[in-house]
Amino acid sequence: MSDSEDIIVENPYHPARLKPVRKGKKPPKLLAVVHQSGCTGCEVCIAGCPVDSIELVPGPEAGNPSFRQTVEIDLARCIGCQNCSQDCPWETITMYQSDDAFDAWAQETLDSELYISENQLKSLNDEHGVVAPAVEEETAEEENQEA
Ligand code: SF4
Ligand code: SF4
Repeated sequence: MSDSEDIIVENPYHPARLKPVRKGKKPPKLLAVVHQSGCTGCEVCIAGCPVDSIELVPGPEAGNPSFRQTVEIDLARCIGCQNCSQDCPWETITMYQSDDAFDAWAQETLDSELYISENQLKSLNDEHGVVAPAVEEETAEEENQEA
């Protein structure tokens, strides 16, 4: 990710957020991460995912999004079945221990629409006319009143 210094958050506007959530409170033992530099965007992995948690990432040309497309995995929904890592003809999906998966995601993800920086989220909120609550300002005001 180019904005590696930013805090990364889930994109609440991604269509994947409308899909069924993963059952259970604990994450699975393993989670899948795409090494996007080796992904050809062939979509083979998408067909074999039992919970539809692999999403396309459009390529850089707005008029031709399938050119140089890649995929990414919704870590919030992956159940760790390993189908995709076994199916990928280019061996570019690796299973990680859940605790390590987000670090691996940060290392291996070049472009994501599922997980975005806080600055990107602010821009999307502006586009959608959403005003985020001013939590920090309220807290500061409360502290001033208590002092
Ligand atoms: S490990 Fe299974 S659930 Fe997770 S993305 Fe791959 S195919 Fe889907
Ligand atoms: S099967 Fe492998 S190369 Fe094809 S889209 Fe999935 S991760 Fe990319």
